[in-house]
Amino acid sequence: MIPLHDGVHTLARSMASAWRRGREERRWMHLEPEEREARLRDLGLARFDPSLFGERSDSATSQLPRMMAVFGVDPMTPLVVGNGVKRDLERVCSACPARSRCARVLDQGPTPEACAFCPNAMTLEALGHH
Ligand code: SF4
Repeated sequence: MIPLHDGVHTLARSMASAWRRGREERRWMHLEPEEREARLRDLGLARFDPSLFGERSDSATSQLPRMMAVFGVDPMTPLVVGNGVKRDLERVCSACPARSRCARVLDQGPTPEACAFCPNAMTLEALGHH
């Protein structure tokens, strides 16, 4: 059996740790996407993975359909819906480090060439040619 004072210290340590994690997460959330990228590069991480920080992104539902339209891809075609292609596109989109740029570019009615930075661009281009 754990002595009471050890249990209290353990609880206090885990509360302090949770508080520090929450503070770090709030700091992270206030950074601009470019600042986050720069910090991750400083840490030697190649790209931003939102799941590491518990950040939720709605880009797969808000931006991906618009990007599909740029490339002339019908989101309901069996080519997209079947074989896990849509799921892969959404997974990449949810972790995309270029979401802010994407939102800006999509608002300008872009050509496919202007969207070459999209990590899904090659797949969407191939799908658009079918
Ligand atoms: S640029 Fe990123 S956010 Fe925009 S559609 Fe492509 S993967 Fe999604």
